[in-house]
Amino acid sequence: MNSEEVKEKMRRRRYRQKLISFSLIPASVLLTFLCFLLNAGVLLLVGGALALGWVAFTMLNWRCPSCHGLLAITSGETTCEKCGTEIGIPGKTSDCC
Ligand SMILES: [Zn+2]
Repeated sequence: MNSEEVKEKMRRRRYRQKLISFSLIPASVLLTFLCFLLNAGVLLLVGGALALGWVAFTMLNWRCPSCHGLLAITSGETTCEKCGTEIGIPGKTSDCC
């Protein structure tokens, strides 16, 4: 896998991570808030399940395309700290699928 393929895969992973994060985390917080507002415990379970789903997705998605090592939570890295592969410029997802 050449460096352009790695950067393209990383751009897609960043895009998916932002998409899932900006939808699941607010939904989880909203459901937890509604749980206490409406006194409906099932909403807390659903909110917790969404939060756990986000964690599971992150563990699967947020990996180096080259060595499949788990990347740091901050997306400020430009290289993989495990294998040294350049993973691209953080925040550049606009030209992604
Ligand atoms: Zn790596």
